[in-house]
Amino acid sequence: MTHVEDARRALDEAAQRTPPACDGAPEFTADDLSDDDLAWCREVCRLCPIFELCDDYASTARPAAGFWAGRVRKGRGMNDRTEERNRIA
Ligand code: SF4
Repeated sequence: MTHVEDARRALDEAAQRTPPACDGAPEFTADDLSDDDLAWCREVCRLCPIFELCDDYASTARPAAGFWAGRVRKGRGMNDRTEERNRIA
């Protein structure tokens, strides 16, 4: 099993035990977010009990879209500088 698969399984299992606040929130899958939406998403993630597992998965799998563990992800096309701007302060 790859690290991506392990990370996904760990995240899914944790989310079943403790559903995250982003569950079903459209902001986390929207293409464009306002500054207010981004700030709200960051705050939700900052308080999320499974943040570390989510970040591990997203950093490994590099999903093509969505807001994961405190930042917008745009897959492997996003350079490190762009990702750095999106990080939780
Ligand atoms: S860290 Fe953020 S995106 Fe990840 S599960 Fe938690 S609330 Fe959702």
